[in-house]
Order: sequence, then C-alpha cells, then structure tokens
Amino acid sequence: MGTSGSGSGGRGRNTAVEGPAGPQIEGGQRMNGQPEDMTSHESGATDIDVVVVGAGFAGLYQLYRLREAGFRVVVLEAAGDVGGTWYWNRYPGARCDILTVDYSYSWDPELQQEWTWSERYATQPEILRYARFVADKHDLRRDIRFDTRVEGAVWNDDTERWTIRTDTGDEFLAQHYVMATGCLSMPKVPDIEGTDRFGGEVYFTSSWPHDGVDFTGKRVAVIGTGSSGIQSIPIIAEQADQLTVFQRTPNFSFPAHNGPIADERLEEFRRDPVAYRRAARESSIGVPVDRPELSALEVSDDERQAAYEQVWQTGELAKLSPFNDIQTNPDANDTLRRFVHGKIREIVDDPDVAELLCPTNHYALTKRPCLDTGYFQTYNLPHVRLVDLHAQPIDTITENGIDLGGSTPEHLDVDAIVFATGFDAMTGAIVGVDITGRNGLTLRDAWAGGPMTYLGLMTVGFPNLYMITGPGSPSVLSNMMVSIEQHVDLITDTLEHLRAGDLRTIEPTPLAQRKWVQHVNEFANLTLAPTADSWYMGANVPGKPRVFLPYIGGVGRYREICDEVVERDHLGFVLDGPGGHHENDGVIRPLKPDVALVLEVVAELGLPPIETLPVPDAREFISVSNAARPPGPDVGEIVDGTLPGADGAELTYRLYRPTTPGPHAVVAYFHGGGWVLGDHASDDPVCRDLCDRSGAVIVSVNYRHAPEDRFPAAVDDGLAAASWIAEHAEELGGIPGQLAVAGWSAGANVAAVTAQQARLAGGPAIVGQVLLNPVTDCDMSRPSYVDNAEGYMLTTATMKWFWDHYCDPEDRAHPKASPLRADDLSGLPPAMVITSEFDPLRDEGDAYAAALAAAGVPVRHLQCEGQTHTSLGAVDVVVTGADARAEMADALRSFFTVPAPA
Ligand code: FAD
Ligand code: NAP
Repeated sequence: MGTSGSGSGGRGRNTAVEGPAGPQIEGGQRMNGQPEDMTSHESGATDIDVVVVGAGFAGLYQLYRLREAGFRVVVLEAAGDVGGTWYWNRYPGARCDILTVDYSYSWDPELQQEWTWSERYATQPEILRYARFVADKHDLRRDIRFDTRVEGAVWNDDTERWTIRTDTGDEFLAQHYVMATGCLSMPKVPDIEGTDRFGGEVYFTSSWPHDGVDFTGKRVAVIGTGSSGIQSIPIIAEQADQLTVFQRTPNFSFPAHNGPIADERLEEFRRDPVAYRRAARESSIGVPVDRPELSALEVSDDERQAAYEQVWQTGELAKLSPFNDIQTNPDANDTLRRFVHGKIREIVDDPDVAELLCPTNHYALTKRPCLDTGYFQTYNLPHVRLVDLHAQPIDTITENGIDLGGSTPEHLDVDAIVFATGFDAMTGAIVGVDITGRNGLTLRDAWAGGPMTYLGLMTVGFPNLYMITGPGSPSVLSNMMVSIEQHVDLITDTLEHLRAGDLRTIEPTPLAQRKWVQHVNEFANLTLAPTADSWYMGANVPGKPRVFLPYIGGVGRYREICDEVVERDHLGFVLDGPGGHHENDGVIRPLKPDVALVLEVVAELGLPPIETLPVPDAREFISVSNAARPPGPDVGEIVDGTLPGADGAELTYRLYRPTTPGPHAVVAYFHGGGWVLGDHASDDPVCRDLCDRSGAVIVSVNYRHAPEDRFPAAVDDGLAAASWIAEHAEELGGIPGQLAVAGWSAGANVAAVTAQQARLAGGPAIVGQVLLNPVTDCDMSRPSYVDNAEGYMLTTATMKWFWDHYCDPEDRAHPKASPLRADDLSGLPPAMVITSEFDPLRDEGDAYAAALAAAGVPVRHLQCEGQTHTSLGAVDVVVTGADARAEMADALRSFFTVPAPA
C-alpha cells in the first residue's frame, strides 16, 4: 500500500493513515509540557488533579479554565499540535459550515477584538491558525503532551483516583478525568474489501497529509459524499485527470456562497458582542437566528418557493428551516426535498446524473446537510463520473483499481483513492479508550446497547469521568463552540464546587441517567431525524447500536436544564467525600417533551385562568381553543342527532362510525369539561381516534351542564343516554348487547357513575368502561392536588371552581358524585383506568382503579408517566400519548365479543 504522504500523524486503529512519528509543527512552540506543580507518585506515575484528553477547541478551553481555577492539569493529545478536527482534516476544500463569526470562542473578549476572520466560512488552515493563536496567547502548550495517545483508564475505588495509561508508557493518577476527545475524531475503519491490497495512493479526508497532495494528471477515486466528500470533490476535480465519485447515498447540499463576512452580521456582532453571544447560547443550534413560526403547509406555493429560494441564496445551516415543521412533518419536509431536487436538476446537465444526485431515501435535514462550493456543477465536467453504488456496488479494491459488481460489472483503474467515509461519531473516541470504572465495569460493556449518560456529561459507574459534548448533549446538532464552552464551564464549576465542599467524587444516579436517556430518545422521536440511516443514529458503522446520539432539544433548552440541575442542588447526582455524602436522586425533565412544549406555548400565551372567567366566557374560550386543534383521524361517517336525557331533557349527540363495514360495538362517550364546559363535539379528536383505533361506533353525548343543571343532572343524563343507546343499538348501526361506556375527566366521572347506576338499576347491560383521568372523589387533599396544583393545564383552583358550580358540598360524598365512595364496587363491568402523572386527579383515579380491583372487577390500570390531565387527549399534538390511546382502544376491543376490525 502507498503511504499517505508525510507528517500526517498516526491515528491508532487505522494503519492506512499511520504516518511518521514526528509530526510537523507549523506554528507556535511545541512544549510537550510537564506542569511544574505535578508530583511523581511512588509508582512512577504522575500525580495530578485533572487529566484532559484532547487538545481541540474543547481541550484548550478546558485547560485554560482549570488552570485559572488553580487545578493541576495536564492535557494528553495524540496529535502533534493543538487544533483537533482542524489539525487532522486538512483535505482540499475543508472549511467550517457555521459562519466563522459564530464558530469562534466567546470566552476571551480580547481575542474577539484581536482576531479577524477573512471569510464567511474560514478554511481549515485559518481555523487551525486560530487554535494556535489561542494556544500561544494563553501559553497553553506548556501543559499539553503531544504525540501521546491515551489507551486505558482505570478507576480505583480505594484511592478514588483514575489511573490513565498512554501509548508512550506513561501513567497519570488523577482525581478527575475529562474526555475532550471530540465527536468526529475517530475515523470509521474502512469496511470495503481489498482496501489494504491497493498499490496506489490512499488518503483519508480525516487525516490528510500535512504537505498536501497534488492530484495533477492522476486518475482519482473519491468514496463518500458526506460533507468531507462534497467539500473536497470540486477541488480534486480541478487537479485530477479523471475523477470518479462513488456515491452510496446522495446528500442534501446547499451553496455556501463563501466570501467576505456579511457586513450586517459583523455589525450585529460588533454592536453588542455580549448580547450576540447570549442570543447564541439561548438559541436552538447555537447561532442567533429567529425561530420560524409558520408551517410549510399553511403558506401558498409561491410563498414557500420564495422562502426556499431565500434559503438557497443565504447558504447558512442555521437558516435551512424557514418553516416550523420541516423537521417533524413528512409532508412539510417533502416540500423542501422537492425544492432541492429541482435545484439539482437545474444545475446538472445530464438528467440521469441529476436523478442520482437527488436525495430520496431520507428526509431533508435528517442527515447533517452540507454546504458546498460548486459541488453539483462538478458533475458537468467531462472528466468527472458519478458511480451509483446501489447499481454498481464495489466488489473489491484491487492492486490497481476498483472492481464494480451489480448488473454491469466493470473494473476501473485508479492511481489514488480518497476515503471520505466519515467517522465512528460521538462514541468512537470515548470507547476507543479502554475505560474501567467501579467494580471492574468497562465502558464498552456499559454502553454495549448504546451510550448511557446523564446530560451527555457523565455516566453511572464511572465517577469523576466527564465527557465534553458527549452523547446525549446537543453537541453535533449545534455550533460546537457554544456547546463546548457550556460543558467546559459546567465541568469547571463542578470541580470547584467539589473542592469547596471537600468532596472527592461525583457520579449520576441510575434513575437520573435512565430518565435522561429516555428524554433524549423521546425528543428525537418527535422529529423525523431517527428515520434516517445517519451517523447521528450510529447507522454508518456496521454493528453499532441504532440509537439517536445527540440531544435534539436545542442548546438553549439544554443549558436551562443543566443550570436547573445545579440550582436544584445537583439533582440526579451523588457527591461524596470528607465534606459529606449528598445523594440527590431525581429526574430533571419528567414531563414528556411534547407535553412540555405544549405547556411552554400555552404559558407564552399568558391566558387567564378558567376560574377567573364568567362561565359563558369560559365556554367561549374553550370552543375557540378547540377550533385550533388538529381534527384527528378520518372516520367513516359522522352523524349528529338527539336523544332523550333524564327529566325530559333533550340531548344532542355526535356519532362517529368506523370505516369498516358494520354493525359495530357501541361506546357511549362522555366528554370532559368539569361538568361545566364542552359539548357533544368538544372531544372530537379523541372520539375520532377511539373510533378509528377500536372499530366501534362512538356516541358522544352532550349531557346537561352546571351551573344551569347541577348535580345529579349530568350523571342522570349519562344513565338515560346509555339506556337509549342500548335500546337503539341496531338503528345506530350497532350490535345489541355490545355497549361500553367511556369518558374523560368529568366525563369519565359520568361514565363511572353510569356503570354503577346501570348495575343498581339492572340495566342497560354495559360490557366495559374506559375512564381517562376520571374524577372519582370530592376529596381534594390528596398529594396530587398539591404536587400538580398548577402549571399542568388543569389546576387545583379550576377543579374547585368546577365542583362549586356542579355540586353542593353536602352532596359531594354521594357515590353519584364521588363513585369512589360507593359501598360496593363488585360486579361492575371490567374497566380500564388511565391516570396521568402530572394531573391533580391522578391519586383519585389510582384509588378508583385499586378499589375496583379490590372488589374483584377486572382492571387494566395505565399510569402514564410525564403526561398531564389534558395531554393524552391532544391527538396529533402529543404523540407520546399515542400508546395510551392505543391501549384505550385495545381495552374497548377486549370488552366486546365481536371480531376486531381488519
Ligand atoms: P476535536 O477537535 O475532535 O479534538 C479532539 C482531540 O482529541 C483530537 O485532537 C484527537 O486527536 C484527540 N484524541 C482523541 N482521542 C484521543 C486519545 N485517546 N488520546 C489522545 N488524544 C485523543 N462543528 C461546527 O460546529 N462547525 C463546523 O463548521 C464544523 N466543521 C467540521 C468540519 C469537519 C471536517 C469535521 C470533522 C468536524 C467539524 N465540526 C464542526 C465538528 C468539530 O469536530 C467541532 O466543531 C470541534 O472542532 C470539536 O472540538 P473538540 O475539541 O471537541 O474535538
Ligand atoms: P459522513 O457524513 O459520514 O459521510 C461519509 C460518506 O461516506 C457517506 O456518503 C457514506 O455513505 C459514505 N460511506 C461510508 N462508508 C462507505 C462504504 N463502505 N462504501 C461506500 N460509501 C461509504 O462523513 P464526513 O463527510 O466526514 O462528515 C462527517 C461530519 O463531519 C459531517 O456530517 C459534519 O458534521 C462534519 N463535517 C463538516 C464539514 C463542514 O462543512 N464544516 C466538513 C466535513 C465534515 P452513506 O451516507 O450511505 O453512509
């Protein structure tokens, strides 16, 4: 195999990129430092406070902060100099893809004045010069050991220190161990057969020769069309005699429009750098841009086209999403996808090549999008060829070229192969070190099913081990400078806190970690991102667990979370040492992410509490809010009608018929609204959803409401309606004898009471009951009324207002108001009771489920974590509630003795 040129520096596992031992240092002075205040341990190991691994932007800032804070610290770096990513990735065309005005340190105000970037997107050499400038300015190299790869680290529980082993044979004993090893620093091992047989030149974009490469007159193959391939291909094409690009997956790429930094952006920054940086920290991706407010589907075609044209002309990753649902709604996303396809077809002359370049197997932005300079235009050059690896897969690399298989086998002679095949991202460099924590647990084993972290920062079983921009933090979904600085500050503050409290160790609790990982996954699942075979998912590395690795909630939200963890006395951590033992177990974000997002939006609206409104205004308010909801799924038919209630009342109802052929089982459904608000149509999305999922006819009854008709009008209407529906089942398209009751909130109270009253009255026959967040008791002193008193939509104050309108205090203990208080619950129809963690009514619902079970009633009791009183009913808004809604429908089907719909 040919060498990869001189001075590329070694990269451990990949012999193909191993270079001569002594890397060239172009700028600054190489100190290979030994901090003056290090002490030597009797074993010969060096004793120190903190070992930091990696001297990229993370390691450099971490060193600066720790040194300033008075810690004895050493940085160990495999490369020959500082810069990390920008030290290694020297391929032609390498640039940042975040505007350099944003992709720069904010922690040194002087530096912001001293350094001026020359372009919108600085080149790799310029960014590397910047890293060196910082290292020189702060004399950082004296504490960095270059050409030193960390191979292993073992935690010693007795000494409460890490022993860190390097490939130079040195050992370090450190109280704290910081991995600043980078998210994109472990190149993917080539997984193409025959790679080591090739006799020509082999290059990896991820460790390019320091002297550069001249491709003049050569036949070059580039494998890979991610960001590195897309940046390098146009420049390689300028030199090479022939260029063949091997594409497995076409990518979304937008023109970078590189050039001088836009004046208005610079002015914005210079006017108030502090405010500018703050806005970046509070933003979604670490760049201060406004959040889009409109859906791609609610604007005209022309407006949408204009917005995308603007995106294309702007060339900024932070502005690729001009609509708020590109990342969540497949149809919205498709509009952007089609726009990019149109651009590719305009640019590329050969229509067949253009089609091959159009990304079709993943949604836009679900893989890291690319910014390019003349990428698609390159395919118009006569000496550039695109090979579609799906049609012609690589069989093997041979001594002199590449054998293609598929329907048209072919051999291609090449002089040089460039692997732009990417990285074992986010976890590769971390598990690349053999790390052993408490009780001999290795990190590789602990993460065998995917990385487990708390906040992407620490992991259970590995005390005092910190990961800068680790998996489970925003990291690669952000301007990394912002994420790096936040983690470095957090780690430094934590170490200072430990020192001040005479504490030696910090470690997350298993509960906090488990729930954080769940939160990260649930957030990702709200978006289209997990649908792509991306390196975000680990899908690019054969055998890697398929897990969405970064936190998609945004840097602003994430920062708030971390700040809150600290403010709440290091929630989710155990801190220990001579200064005491502090275990503060808990969960930082127990609400489901979509539920939290809804609550945030509602809080921003600043709406008046329901109980402060006159009843007519409250009803009007509810009907206006309801009109803004997504409608829910289509059903076969919706029919409105009337039926007789109690006391001669005439009640309206709305019937939802499934699309399947009837007759169907029937559900008498009672809507929520505290016996005061709502009507037969007010739970429309839930009724459609239940109908669609259960295959039953749903009859939603507009029972009488308080204060006009107080207790027991609503529940008497419930029984009357159920009786009428049972009697008229056939007319309604139902199966006689197959009637269940269901309801939500006060409607679930009506349903539960109806089931009890029907049993007492000897009819109608009710085969089952589904009670969603039911009111079952008038006692408002249960803990859930206190814990969830406010902030979760239904408040304790509103509930009191409902009771006051509905029922006199002396009547509230009657089982027709408080079904939990019935003397005997035996013989009631089988029940499904759903309760929600953040609902004032949670405990009385739980109590009713327990009481039914104790009375021998078959009960399915679903306690929904992270949900509120109203969230499960938010069809097509709260997707994390879909499982519970499916279970409700499943319970209904199980009550009926009719076959489930096909
Ligand atoms: P790195 O820069 O990766 O540094 C980690 C260092 O740790 C490396 O020097 C490595 O040699 C060393 N190391 C790893 N393991 C060991 C070990 N076991 N022993 C000793 N040393 C070790 N992000 C953006 O936000 N904007 C961009 O425009 C952007 N462009 C990018 C372009 C390319 C080509 C790539 C690959 C990434 C890009 N990124 C970009 C992501 C980039 O990695 C980060 O922005 C940032 O540079 C990461 O800094 P870091 O210090 O965390 O990690
Ligand atoms: P990448 O995005 O993972 O792209 C790797 C490419 O190689 C993909 O096209 C992949 O195809 C292909 N590939 C991998 N293994 C292959 C195989 N065995 N056979 C054929 N093709 C194979 O890696 P990258 O381009 O180095 O970029 C990684 C990340 O670094 C980027 O996403 C970005 O975050 C950062 N980066 C940024 C810039 C910038 O503009 N500032 C530049 C470079 C990198 P599949 O897609 O089918 O897997």
